[in-house]
Amino acid sequence: MAVVGIVPAGGSGERLGADRPKAFAVCAGRPLVEWSVEVLAAVCDRVIVAGPAGHLLPGWVEGGPSRSASVRNALAAAPEARTVVVHDAARPMLTKELVERCLASLMGVDGAIAAAPVTDTIKKAYPDGTVERTLDRSRLWAIQTPQVFRAETLRRALAVDDEVLAGATDDASLVEAVGGSVRVVEASPENFKVTSAADLARAERLLC
Ligand code: C5P
Repeated sequence: MAVVGIVPAGGSGERLGADRPKAFAVCAGRPLVEWSVEVLAAVCDRVIVAGPAGHLLPGWVEGGPSRSASVRNALAAAPEARTVVVHDAARPMLTKELVERCLASLMGVDGAIAAAPVTDTIKKAYPDGTVERTLDRSRLWAIQTPQVFRAETLRRALAVDDEVLAGATDDASLVEAVGGSVRVVEASPENFKVTSAADLARAERLLC
């Protein structure tokens, strides 16, 4: 049962304002991507990074035009995969415990995804700002990675046009779209995504 870790790291990281792709931004003394690779390597049989073109390290594959296209490229390089753990290079606070809990939660479903309960009140508004309605917060989750899938279902979910992949903000939504069952696994909000320079500074404080 090969468990393959996939790290989409092909983004430019423009919002970070660094002089290099986000995966290579230095965070607590090492490239951001290394934090995720190290944890996945402790749990998975193999880890594949989808990196930015022109910045590939040995064993990496080239990322695609969107995040999910990068995941698809990495998965194509792992025909042996039976279970896939997808984790963004941009979330350096990953723990082995969370990956293991997601893997254990895959029993009986196609996907098990890390998520934090929503603590803010969430409203849906029209484009002009008028509120349409208030959502029931007790059932809302802020979705993170890792996202763990049966490889067969993820392959089917990713076999769609590039435009569909570009519109997906996570891989689980693509699995849901092909009828796959997905379960949330409660995770800490501390497993946040580094987007801005302030996020990078926060991660650095926590990881030092
Ligand atoms: O842009 P965002 O922060 O949402 O990206 C989430 C993850 O997807 C990052 O780790 C980024 O490097 C990766 N990504 C990718 N290929 C792209 C765009 C983003 O692997 N074309």
